[in-house]
Amino acid sequence: MEDQRIAGYKRMNRKYRVRCVEGGEVVKAPLALQCASGHDSLLRTEYARKRLPLQPYPGMFRYLAWLPVDRPLLPSGGPVTFQSAGLGRELGLKNLFISFSGYFPERNTYLTSGSFKELEALPTLQRIKEIGGRIPVIASAGNTGRAFAEISAKTGLPVVIVVPERALPRLWTTAPAREIFLITVSGDYTDAIEFSNMVAALPGCMPEGGARNVARRDGMGTVMLDAAVTTGRMPDHYFQAIGSGTGAIAAWEAAMRLVRDGRFGVRLPRLHLVQNEPFTPMVSAWWAGRSQIIPDIDMPDASTAVAQVMSDVLTNRNPPYGIRGGVYDAMTNAGGTMYGVANREGHAAALLIREAEGIDVDPAAAVATAALVQSVSADGVAPDDHILLNVTGGGYERIREDLSLFSLDPSVRIAPGEDPGRAISLLNAWMTGTSCQGIR
Ligand SMILES: *Cc1c(COP(=O)(O)O)cnc(C)c1O
Repeated sequence: MEDQRIAGYKRMNRKYRVRCVEGGEVVKAPLALQCASGHDSLLRTEYARKRLPLQPYPGMFRYLAWLPVDRPLLPSGGPVTFQSAGLGRELGLKNLFISFSGYFPERNTYLTSGSFKELEALPTLQRIKEIGGRIPVIASAGNTGRAFAEISAKTGLPVVIVVPERALPRLWTTAPAREIFLITVSGDYTDAIEFSNMVAALPGCMPEGGARNVARRDGMGTVMLDAAVTTGRMPDHYFQAIGSGTGAIAAWEAAMRLVRDGRFGVRLPRLHLVQNEPFTPMVSAWWAGRSQIIPDIDMPDASTAVAQVMSDVLTNRNPPYGIRGGVYDAMTNAGGTMYGVANREGHAAALLIREAEGIDVDPAAAVATAALVQSVSADGVAPDDHILLNVTGGGYERIREDLSLFSLDPSVRIAPGEDPGRAISLLNAWMTGTSCQGIR
């Protein structure tokens, strides 16, 4: 195991390095989530290839050169970029492009868990496999857990997933899942995160890392790479609904690499980031000009607000906003603005995009579309501007029609206030089982 880790690190060192954004030092531990000095900062990859070569793989691994893995994890889907005729006409925009991450066979995109979280799961699991890590533990309220479950089901790579009990109906896979240890926790997403932190610290397990995981961000960055490669340039404006903002940070980082490449323009796309009212902590802090979220001001009555939104994947209470290299830095460096969207606007936008583009979209993507509508009426974008709307999820209706879905059974259900001892011994038994001895 140790030898394999060293070999993994040497390989990684030729293709890319990982640096702390704050301190600038190269981070040696291959799967570290923070530098050794403990800076409150994201780490970032730095690739040897300055010009982006395209690789002959379908899906996201076309951009393998700028992903922190050696080999593709196949089969895999990817994002697709297309010019929107319908929505563009409706909004009077001549250069509106949609990046679609989901299941849309007519557009040739096959992310079968339905959202761009799959772009994070694929390189994350491949990287852990190559470097020889332990089993990743993922806490999720829905789309992330489903994405990791789906890739685990398709590849046999083991994962531990911790979700709030009521998220269970949203977890399914399109192939039988054999290597998933699923823990349901009574309570909300925050309770699931707490329980997952405890589990991730057990021998044989590791935290997947969320926004701090460079594989996750570079995976999501393929949205910007695909848009630039498909249209020949970076967009002027990038629209996305954010919960953690990881996708927005990733789009900004990918754009910085594209500037350095030199073939896709010199200006970073302006970031138009969107949250769903009444839960809008980042929008509130940004408009107040602050780099820190103050919970009492920016998310008062958080539980009530979270219960009212149409898109609960946008309700992260602890996003990487003020951290070095995070959302605030991205916004100040690239320029941009933030929007709050009411459910009523989001529902209207969902209908608009379904009629214009012929596909159902994730509620989060509807919220992003509603912000574009707001921006057009406020002259925030001009009719000729190149705009990229990130439709971060969709095609669920088609997935249900075309594919067979397998629901997931919890390996253990944690009752309110239950001691974790039982869960830990079941997990240990699973980890030492013959079918699953960690990722090799
Ligand atoms: C998670 C998610 C988002 C928000 O993404 P972040 O950039 O991580 O905040 C948006 N849309 C969908 C469909 C998601 O699953």
